[in-house]
Amino acid sequence: MFVNKASTLYSNPMLIIDGRKTREELLPGLIEKIKKLPKAPTLAIIQVGNRPDSTSFIKAKKAFAKKIGVYEKHIQLPETISQKELLKTIAACNNDDEITGIIVQLPLPEGLDRDLAIDAILPRKDADGLTPTNTKSGAVIPATARGIRELLNHYKIGLARKKVTVIGRSMLVGKPIAAMCEREGAIVTVCHRQTLDLAKETKAADIIICAVGKQGLITAKHVKAGQVVIDVGINRNEEERLVGDVDFEAVKDIVSAISPVPGGVGPMTVLGLFENLVDLCHN
Ligand code: NAD
Repeated sequence: MFVNKASTLYSNPMLIIDGRKTREELLPGLIEKIKKLPKAPTLAIIQVGNRPDSTSFIKAKKAFAKKIGVYEKHIQLPETISQKELLKTIAACNNDDEITGIIVQLPLPEGLDRDLAIDAILPRKDADGLTPTNTKSGAVIPATARGIRELLNHYKIGLARKKVTVIGRSMLVGKPIAAMCEREGAIVTVCHRQTLDLAKETKAADIIICAVGKQGLITAKHVKAGQVVIDVGINRNEEERLVGDVDFEAVKDIVSAISPVPGGVGPMTVLGLFENLVDLCHN
């Protein structure tokens, strides 16, 4: 099916890269790893305020924790909390031997400094891989990037020597994805708001990874035959349904492989987070 050569057209007919199915298939391996640990790990999830999207992401993480037999401690703080109080909560989790990994659910309410909060997490408890130490060393790969790596790996789509165009360069999503692809040996181009000719950059790629948050950003004119398209974006359309950044219907019959939204990267991000948690047990 997929041949690991830089200039190969990947597959014909088009393949749907299914994150839900992949996660189910990888689940037994993860559960096995957890069973071998001296004790099940605990993930602390710190939420400030109650944004509905954050609450629903946390709900998915809690359900997954239950499914794989690990503990979670959901710490809910009021929106009005001070930076000092937030840092105190993080420090308490750092010092709690029962807590293996910590995530601060982002975005934080206005007025709170995200970088200060992330920097306060001990690198050995940094389940999201966003602390400067882990960003530099790559010791913990942020969950979305790890999920994408596993997804591609599962479909035997190699990154080494491939031209990868990543659209979006946020510190949380785009940058870690680009860094992961580079570490895997890809030749990476990063596009962003200032990119003059997006279609030129996407068409030059073997693999397009779009992480922007704009419905319909990638259309038929941005793709060509043989490409793999990974859609990271999460948007709500006019009918309040979840959609990605890629116009799936327009693109799917041109490219060789495409991940849908929902059911593509999302489930793999949750898996990536808990794989990070299990790895932290060995620190
Ligand atoms: P962000 O707003 O912080 O960053 C968006 C990036 O897109 C920026 O770098 C910006 O320069 C770039 N951009 C904006 N408009 C552009 C354009 N017209 N052309 C090219 N680049 C453009 O968002 P984020 O936190 O990085 O999240 C990106 C998307 O990924 C969102 O939809 C978010 O919901 C989604 N997301 C999905 C998962 C998942 O598991 N599937 C996980 C995290 C985030």
